[in-house]
Amino acid sequence: MKIKDLRATPVTVPLEAPLRHANGCHWGRFVRTIVEIETDNGLVGLGEMGGGGESNDVAFRALKSSLLGQDPARLEELRLRIANPTASLYNNRTQILAAIEFACLDLLGQAWGAPVSELLGGRLRDRIPFASYLFFRYAHPKTGAGEVRTLDQLVAHARRLKSLHGFSSHKLKAGVFPPHYELECYRALAAAFPEDRLRIDPNCTWPADWGIRFGRAIEDLNNDYFEDPVFGMEGMRRVRERVKIPLATNTVVVNFEQLAANILKPAVDVVLLDTTFWGGIRPCVKAANVCETFQLDIGVHSSGELGIQLATMLHLGAVVPNLPYAADAHYHELADDVIEGGKMKYEGGAIAVPASPGLGVRLDRKKVAEYHELYKRLGSYPYDRDPLRPDWAPTIPNERWADPADSRIPQIPQ
Ligand SMILES: [Mg+2]
Repeated sequence: MKIKDLRATPVTVPLEAPLRHANGCHWGRFVRTIVEIETDNGLVGLGEMGGGGESNDVAFRALKSSLLGQDPARLEELRLRIANPTASLYNNRTQILAAIEFACLDLLGQAWGAPVSELLGGRLRDRIPFASYLFFRYAHPKTGAGEVRTLDQLVAHARRLKSLHGFSSHKLKAGVFPPHYELECYRALAAAFPEDRLRIDPNCTWPADWGIRFGRAIEDLNNDYFEDPVFGMEGMRRVRERVKIPLATNTVVVNFEQLAANILKPAVDVVLLDTTFWGGIRPCVKAANVCETFQLDIGVHSSGELGIQLATMLHLGAVVPNLPYAADAHYHELADDVIEGGKMKYEGGAIAVPASPGLGVRLDRKKVAEYHELYKRLGSYPYDRDPLRPDWAPTIPNERWADPADSRIPQIPQ
């Protein structure tokens, strides 16, 4: 089997409402690039990566000549061809490598009649539990609905998601409003769901003293972990020394050098593995195996996926033993997907690991065309800008918080 063609198609898919986060906002939609690798025996493997448009298009075009004629089974050869450690100093292609690895694994699974989880050692679980992943949200610019800003709105939103999808673990995406307000929000969730588990992630925006104060103020709750309260290994280590909750990161341990550093001098207890950030599913499995040896736990991280990347997260979650926590996904925030059959379903807070060969998802060509057209109309959006605070820029640590009393609706094209 040889690679015959490589295609990258940017799409934008609507969200229920704009999602606010510490670095800015998802402006009512996600922008993703769908990657297709076609082989000489007529198979098409699927990959996905964040962002879209010209830069991704150019990057994939540039790689095409070195991938044509290659065997998708030779994944280590492809890794070194695309992103060897020293060439990567000049061309950071980790996320591109990830999208190509997804597509190659999908091809191998189809060719050999096995789901990707079987290629990776075989599944230990058939369903992956997910957390509710609660964002503060602006109201939808067209409908005016969907705002999450006040304590009551946040708890009502969590109740709705729990009743729709069955979540029993809740993650608050924080770092938007002043920390004392977000502490009230987190404690309101704890009071509303006394049987459920909780986690909070302010995306490294707090100074170390607030990380410690906040951590100590929630030690009595049913926490899964405390995710990236501050930036940097040393900052995390300071918080970890003073707070009795496991610390988790998807920020300071995102490659093997950092994983080694964290093992030699621990700063975090839970490594949240992102199939995109780490360059594919296989490096995540390898990292999980290293973590297992050193008795560190892992989580499955979400960087804003459509169904293809969600499938990679499900196959990863299926094969790693040291996964005691519900996975994260932005997926339930999406209004639609580009895969056949529409969005995957949550049942009892979990999604079934696809059982058909490869990643187990196929493209709905009509949807891809529709959301490619929408991308052409709307283009990309600035992830690190807040539509209602044009003069604001995210700083780490931050002190210029959004105002929880501000109920304006951003007028952004949808
Ligand atoms: Mg995070």
